[in-house]
Amino acid sequence: MDFLKPRLIPMTRRRKIYEGKAKTLYEGPEPGTLIQHFKDDATAFNAQKHEIIDGKGVLNNRISEYIFNNLNAIGVPTHFIRRLNMREQLIREVEIIPLEVVVRNVAAGSLSTKLGIEEGTQLPRSIIEFYYKKDELNDPMVSEEHITAFGWATPQEIDDIMALAIRVNDFLSGLFLGVGIRLIDFKIECGRLWEGDMMRIVVADEISPDSCRLWDVKSNDKMDKDRFRKDMGGLVEAYTEVARRLGIMKDDEPVRTSGPKLVQ
Ligand code: UDP
Repeated sequence: MDFLKPRLIPMTRRRKIYEGKAKTLYEGPEPGTLIQHFKDDATAFNAQKHEIIDGKGVLNNRISEYIFNNLNAIGVPTHFIRRLNMREQLIREVEIIPLEVVVRNVAAGSLSTKLGIEEGTQLPRSIIEFYYKKDELNDPMVSEEHITAFGWATPQEIDDIMALAIRVNDFLSGLFLGVGIRLIDFKIECGRLWEGDMMRIVVADEISPDSCRLWDVKSNDKMDKDRFRKDMGGLVEAYTEVARRLGIMKDDEPVRTSGPKLVQ
C-alpha cells in the first residue's frame, strides 16, 4: 500500500539552484525569491586551498545582513530581503552580471603584486577594477571594452555598477572607520532585478570579511580572509571582533555554529 511507505523525501528538502564555494542557493518560498545559505568552507587561490572553518558561515551571514540592511536603508538597492536563521537569508532572485567589481582605497593583494606598490600605500584616489567571473580562466581582469564587446553588460549598466560601487565604498569606509577599521579594498557582485518590464542593477551576493580587506586602524592587524590566505590563523576570532565592533554581537555572545548537540 503506497500510503504506508515511509516518506523518502523529507518535507524540509528544498530545490538547490546553485552551489558555490562558500554559499548555496535554494529555491525561495515565493516566486522571484531565493534562500542564500552560508557554508563554513573557505577557499583561496581559485579553490586550490580549501578548509572548513567552523563558525565562518554564521558570522558572514550576520555581518552581510547588517551591511545590506544599512545599504537598503540609505537607498542603495540590494537583493537582500531579510535574514531567516543562523546561516540563511531570503534574497530576491537576480540575473547575476558575470563580473567581480573590486574597489580599492589602499594598495594590497594583487594590485601590490602586479604593479609593485607596497601594501598599505594610500592610493591617490579610489580605483575600480573589473574581473570576469570564470573559474577555468582564474577570473581575469577585464576592461570596459571587453565587457561591452562581449555583451556582459551595456555601457549604461557599467555606469550604474560604478555608481553603486562608489556609494558602497563611501558607506563602508565610514562605517568601518567609525569602529576603528580601515577599509583597504572589497569586492561586490551586481545583478539585474526585473520588476515587470523594468530592470535595475542591484548589489547582490555578500559583503563580509571574506570579500573585504579590513585592517585595524591602530595595529594594522588583518581582520579578513587574508588570515586564511596567508595561514595566519585566528580567522573566526577576527570576524567575531568585526561583528562585535559593529554592534552585531554582544560582547559576551559566543558564536553559535550549530544547534544543540545530543550528549550521550
Ligand atoms: N576578492 C574576493 N573574491 C575574489 C577575489 C578578490 O572577494 O575572488 C576580494 C578580496 O578579498 C579583496 C579584493 O577583492 O578584498 C581585492 O582582491 P585582489 O584583487 O587583491 O585579489 P587577491 O589578492 O585576494 O587574490
